[in-house]
Amino acid sequence: MTPPPDVTDHSKPTLVSINPYDGSIVGEVTVTPSDQVPDVVSKARQAQQAWGARSLSERRDVLKPLGKLIEDRTDDFAKLITLEMGKPINESKGEIAATVGRLEHELDAIVEALTCEQLDDGTTCSTIYHDPFGVCACITPWNFPLMMPHWLVLPALMAGNAVVLKPSEESPVVAQLYIDVLNQLLPPGVLQIVHGQDDQGKALVAADVDLICFTGSRETGKHIMAAASSGLKRVILELGSKDPLVVLEDADVKAAARFAAGNSFRNAGQVCVSTERVYVPKSIAQPFIDELVKASGEIVIGDGLDEATVLGPMVNAGQRDHVLKQIDDAIADGAQVAFGHEGHHGNFVMPTVLTAITHDMDIARTETFGPVACVITVNDEDEAIRLANDSDFGLGAVVFGEPDHASKVARRLNAGMIGVNKSVGGACGAPWVGARQSGYGYHASRDGHRQFCQPRVVSLAK
Ligand code: NAD
Repeated sequence: MTPPPDVTDHSKPTLVSINPYDGSIVGEVTVTPSDQVPDVVSKARQAQQAWGARSLSERRDVLKPLGKLIEDRTDDFAKLITLEMGKPINESKGEIAATVGRLEHELDAIVEALTCEQLDDGTTCSTIYHDPFGVCACITPWNFPLMMPHWLVLPALMAGNAVVLKPSEESPVVAQLYIDVLNQLLPPGVLQIVHGQDDQGKALVAADVDLICFTGSRETGKHIMAAASSGLKRVILELGSKDPLVVLEDADVKAAARFAAGNSFRNAGQVCVSTERVYVPKSIAQPFIDELVKASGEIVIGDGLDEATVLGPMVNAGQRDHVLKQIDDAIADGAQVAFGHEGHHGNFVMPTVLTAITHDMDIARTETFGPVACVITVNDEDEAIRLANDSDFGLGAVVFGEPDHASKVARRLNAGMIGVNKSVGGACGAPWVGARQSGYGYHASRDGHRQFCQPRVVSLAK
C-alpha cells in the first residue's frame, strides 16, 4: 500500500481530514484565520455573562440531554472516529460509551463539587463560591477525538464559563460534530470552535481568555505555559508520558504479559497511559516474554471499520516515522526483536516486542506513542522501581504482583495514577492526574472540577 499523502494544503482556507488507512478524504472544515480568533473570544465573553448567571442546576438541565443525543448517533460518531484517526471501530464505540455513558452522574458530581460552602469558626462566617473564570480555551489532541474535547468542555461549561475549543487538526470532523450536537442545547456564543493547526492554538492562547485547558504533548504544554505566563492566565495541562509496568516475582505472569500486550498495542499504542516500558525480573523474564509474544501474535491487524480489527494504522506518516526510527535506533544499540518489526506498510506499524532494552536508549526515555512493547530485564524490584521513577514523566504506572505486595510497590512509584493488577483508571470520582512533567493541574474528581472555577470568599463577623 502506498503511504497516504500528508494532510493539509496550507494555501487553502480548509482543513482536509484524511483517513490514515487508505488516504481517502473523510471531510473538511473551514480554517479560522488566526486574526479572527480575538473576535471569537470576544463573542464568547459576551455570551458568558448570561450563561454564568444561570444557576448550577439550570446549567445541568441544559446539558443533560447531551448523553442521549450522542448515544443516538453512536454509529455516526464511531465511524467518523475510525475514519479520521484509524482506531478500530469497537474501540471507537468504547470511547463513546466511556465519554457519555455516565453523563448524568457526572453532571450531578459537578453540581455537588461547585455548590457554595459555608464555614463558621465562631467569630467569622464565610461563604465560598465557585465562580466561573469567564472564557475558557480548550485545546485538544487527536487520540481520543471525542473524549478529550468532552473532558474539558463539559466541566468548563458547567462551571459557567464560555468555551472556545481548538481541536486537533488530525480530527476536526469528529470535533465539529460534537460541537454541533452540543450547540443544539446551548445559547449562541457559549460554545464555539476554532479550526486550524498550531497557529490557531497560539492565537487562542494569546487572545483574551481567562483559563487555558490543554491536553497534548509535553512540548506544546511548555509553549502554552510560557505564552500564558505574561498575562498570568490560568492553565490546566494534561501531557504525555512514558508509563512503566513493573512486574513482580509473585505476579501472575500470564496475566501480566497479556496486560502488557493489550496496553502497549491498544489504539496502536497512541494512548497517553500506554505501557511504554516493562520491567521484569530475570527469574521470570523468559516465560513473560514467551507469553507476550504469543499474545502479540494473536492481534488482528487491518481496516479499523472491520469489527475483527484490533490494530489499525498510526494517525499519520509523521507518527509512523517517529515510531519506526525509535525501533531502528534501539536495534542499532543492541535491542533484540522478539516479535514483529516486519511487514510495516502504509501508515501501519506492526506490533513489535523488543527485549534487551537498556535505560539509556531513546525508546526507554522518550514517548513512543506506537505499538511497541519494550522489555527491560532487572535484578530485583528495587532496580525496577529506581528505573521506573527515573523519568521526567509521571502520568500513570502499573504494578503486577501479589495484591498487598504490589500495593506497597505502587506507593513507591512516582506517577499520578497507579494501577495494581489493572490499568490506571480510578473509581468514579477519582482525579485524572499526572505527576511531574505529565501534568500541571488536573481534572475530574471534586478538586478537578473546581479547577475550572475561581473561588471567592465572602466573610461576615458574627
Ligand atoms: P500536540 O501537543 O501536538 O497537539 C495538541 C493540540 O495543541 C493540537 O490541537 C495542536 O494543534 C495544538 N497546538 C500545537 N502547538 C500549539 C501551540 N504552540 N499553542 C497552542 N496550541 C498548539 O499533541 P497531539 O500529537 O495532538 O497528541 C498526542 C499527545 O497528547 C501525546 O503526548 C499524549 O501523551 C498526549 N495526551 C495526553 C493525555 C493526558 O490525559 N495526559 C491524553 C491524551 C493525549
